[in-house]
Amino acid sequence: MFKTHLIFGILAGLFFIEAFTIPNSLLFLAVVAFFSVFPDIDSYHSKIGGKVKPISFILNLLFGHRGFIHSLLFGFVIYGGTYFIFGSTWAAATFIGFGSHLLLDSFTPDGTRPLFPFRTQINGVVRSNTIVDYALFFVFLAAVVWMLF
Ligand SMILES: [Zn+2]
Repeated sequence: MFKTHLIFGILAGLFFIEAFTIPNSLLFLAVVAFFSVFPDIDSYHSKIGGKVKPISFILNLLFGHRGFIHSLLFGFVIYGGTYFIFGSTWAAATFIGFGSHLLLDSFTPDGTRPLFPFRTQINGVVRSNTIVDYALFFVFLAAVVWMLF
């Protein structure tokens, strides 16, 4: 679920924020949050994919949902590109957000193939948009509130 990814991304950002010397904490969290929902751009049914349907459609056609765009390989491509242009702190922000998305997706029945193109799959039993998903959202939200105060 979009909201669960977003709040878990923010939680991951807050968890790692102390490890970096960050000129702008809010921007760091925003970058982490953006990349925590970004991988679903490979599905035009997703919230982020729906915002850029033509791009999302092409990515889905090329890579499928939870293919290359949901792989560590793609995570490293984003990391490398961001590192080259903006430096290590912002590259870390992208990877923390991206990694948080892959981690949560790996708990769903469809799972992820983080080592794409290899077929090794990691999956679980938590379905999106179910009571467990909503419960996780509120647990992560409570943890974010706890970390802020
Ligand atoms: Zn996903």
